[in-house]
Amino acid sequence: MTIHASGNAALATRDLKHLWHPCTQMHDHDITGKGGVPMVPIVRGEGAWLIDADGRRYLDGISSWWTNLFGHANPRIAAALADQAQRLEHVIFAGFTHEPAIELAEELVRITPPGLDRVFYADNGSAAIEVALKMSFHYWLNQGHGEKTRFIALTGSYHGETLGALSVSDVALYRKTYAPLLLTPFLAPSPDAYEGEPGESAEQTTKRRLGELRALLERHAHETCAVIVEPLVQCAGGMRMYHPAYLTGLRALCDEFAVHFIADEIAVGFGRTGTLFACEQAGVSPDFMCLSKGLTGGFLPLSAVLTTSSIYEAFYAEYSAGKAFLHSHSYTGNPLACRVALETLAIFRDEPVLERNRQLAAHLSSRLETLRDHPHVADVRQTGMIAAIELVADKTGRRPFPATDRRGLRVYLHGLRHGALLRPLGNVVYFMPPYIVSKAEIDLLVDVAVAGIERAVAE
Ligand SMILES: *Cc1c(COP(=O)(O)O)cnc(C)c1O
Repeated sequence: MTIHASGNAALATRDLKHLWHPCTQMHDHDITGKGGVPMVPIVRGEGAWLIDADGRRYLDGISSWWTNLFGHANPRIAAALADQAQRLEHVIFAGFTHEPAIELAEELVRITPPGLDRVFYADNGSAAIEVALKMSFHYWLNQGHGEKTRFIALTGSYHGETLGALSVSDVALYRKTYAPLLLTPFLAPSPDAYEGEPGESAEQTTKRRLGELRALLERHAHETCAVIVEPLVQCAGGMRMYHPAYLTGLRALCDEFAVHFIADEIAVGFGRTGTLFACEQAGVSPDFMCLSKGLTGGFLPLSAVLTTSSIYEAFYAEYSAGKAFLHSHSYTGNPLACRVALETLAIFRDEPVLERNRQLAAHLSSRLETLRDHPHVADVRQTGMIAAIELVADKTGRRPFPATDRRGLRVYLHGLRHGALLRPLGNVVYFMPPYIVSKAEIDLLVDVAVAGIERAVAE
């Protein structure tokens, strides 16, 4: 690597000359200062902290887009990765296999809800969704039900941004522009407790929403492959949360109407919601479970789709029957990524991760209590290691701030100036820290967020 001047300013200038960043209006980073949002070059990570080229530190309150569980540059995971790199970096995964992929599949089958005993790898979350959608459709086709071509998704859902995954997503920011290119799902109203009727409990909201889903299935089950949901928390849609009873009811409806249940646990899997998988809180096994993010330890892209033997068997036939599943990524089952995932799962086995998370989550919850009375906070909600604060213009009518105000961006900028990476989703400020965060670090995150919220709601 050539050594150039390497402070923040120099790196940001070089970055902005050629790079195009995700989820970003690049004009925000206009280096003449008009955009006002800095491009932050990170040179090192350590525990929950990111360190920039000028030596400033940022507490990673969002686990670097929800991927990191056990800290940046985690030494244990880094060592496993280095070891694997010296043995086998990659091999074609058709006709060939390797121990990290085999052992990871065994582990995933062991720890996921009962009945999920087949594992198909892909290399990111969106790709896992594509796989699940295609597999569900192809299962029904192989069963002689080629008329099933549609999917049911929830309002406010997010399942990724490739065309198939975006098709079953309902967050306007990501979907609206590209809508002409997409499949059209049937939308069932989300059981989101925030959108519940006044005086209705979260559980009552789910009952009402299950009734609406039933009505949709009565009309469309014959043409529907699957219902896809984010169990317990609709993350990118604003950390909207719902009661586990919805998942129990959903399982029963999917059985009754012969459609698949796809659980997208890409964001909520691996301990985020308090249990290893969110579906456990409802005691249900989906027909497909999509995993990524936490699975990767925050190191290398990897995803997995788990499904049942009975679905697998619908594809298993003489070659000439033409029933084989076709979905092939060059990096399917990459040994480096599998080895990193195995080490991540080993940490769950060796350390009391969920127990520690319970204590951290309780601490976070107690620290957020004071915000409930804030005149611009309509809701403080939490599920395990995800907490969210809904900012509103008017508390009584729950009138939102106009999106064009970009209040969340003010919280983000305040965070950067005060050593915390917080990246609100519109008017929702949230915390989703790595599990190795300390109580003192949680205090810092909350203090910075509270001060940032005060600035954001002013005038
Ligand atoms: C992030 C996310 C995805 C997409 O994963 P990528 O790896 O970003 O493609 C899908 N579903 C959910 C619930 C997610 O949070």
